[in-house]
Amino acid sequence: MRIPFNRPHASGRELTYIQEAIDRSYLSGNGPFTARCEQWLQGHLDVPRVLLTHSCTAALEMAALLADVGPGDEVIMPSYTFVSTANAFVLRGATPVFVDVRPDTQNLDAALIEAAITPRTKVIVPVHYAGVGCDMEMIGAIARRHDLVVIEDAAQALMASYQDRPLGTFGHMAAFSFHETKNVVSGEGGALVLNDPRLVQRAEILREKGTNRSQFIRGQVDKYTWVDVGSSYIPSDILAAFLFAQLEEAQAITDRRLELWERYHEAMAPFEAAGLLRRPVIPADCRHNAHMYYVVLADAALRNRLLDRMVGLGIGAVFHYVPLHSSPAGLRYARAAGELPHTVAAGERLLRLPLWLALGAHQDEIIAEFSKALAEAAV
Ligand SMILES: *Cc1c(COP(=O)(O)O)cnc(C)c1O
Repeated sequence: MRIPFNRPHASGRELTYIQEAIDRSYLSGNGPFTARCEQWLQGHLDVPRVLLTHSCTAALEMAALLADVGPGDEVIMPSYTFVSTANAFVLRGATPVFVDVRPDTQNLDAALIEAAITPRTKVIVPVHYAGVGCDMEMIGAIARRHDLVVIEDAAQALMASYQDRPLGTFGHMAAFSFHETKNVVSGEGGALVLNDPRLVQRAEILREKGTNRSQFIRGQVDKYTWVDVGSSYIPSDILAAFLFAQLEEAQAITDRRLELWERYHEAMAPFEAAGLLRRPVIPADCRHNAHMYYVVLADAALRNRLLDRMVGLGIGAVFHYVPLHSSPAGLRYARAAGELPHTVAAGERLLRLPLWLALGAHQDEIIAEFSKALAEAAV
């Protein structure tokens, strides 16, 4: 692609910090840069504990273990999401139950959750699509009424907030991603947010292969041994060094992305007025992080013609999720709570435009070509 969909950004200090890690001879997990990243995130979110992981997928797997779900348990989530949201629970033998999304935000429709709850429901997983918050007030109330665990899939939501509180602080747990396609990156990377202090000790053990190594390092126990199930969910301190350079720039990155997002949003307004597409809606109680700019075209044929045209011009416009309820593994391991018309529509009609920090003058070209293609394709 001449203009790729994504181009990861570097703050400039990544190599300096990686050199520091090398000079210090601490390259494995749970080192000084891991601690700095965790402290940064704990301070930013104002939560008791954040554990860096090697991916958001790993953080979701840890959350599923901590929520103690197993065969027969049901987990409510959107079908319009990345596979890891579902896989984390399927790996434990639990069953994802898919609820439809709202057509304005592509987020879980909180008004449909209660109808999907059964005596086997244990967890709700809101996914903050495009860094726009789900209705956490309503989801929190439902969870309290039915005694359910809330795990936010906040993969896309760093630096975004709902009712003036950062996303990732509403559930019992939350998972962030630093994959190179996100706003703040380390190539691969993630974090598990623990908003309930009672989860911290077991979480540290799960991340350290089921050992009490974290307590041993802090001098709280005199030997370190196998105490629980677990796996290796911990990133190398080299990765944390890279990530720390990005976290320091997180606000500047977000501000610049918001400018690019606004520019697209203004340019798409006339097409929305003409009924050719719908623009994303940011609810009044949400501050988003410009993770992505997408539009929902009037129909699937129009979306596909536009995609072909943009890609033919070397512009990396892309569709997004194939709804999980219609995927081969989704059919095998999960079930849908009724019809999911808005999920199907998002799968067929949503188109994302390139959005990265150094997009610069490319954005004018993207907007001009998109406008031309839409005018032609719509006749
Ligand atoms: C990116 C993403 C993930 C997975 O993140 P990784 O860090 O690649 O494991 C999970 N859920 C959602 C909604 C995502 O966008």
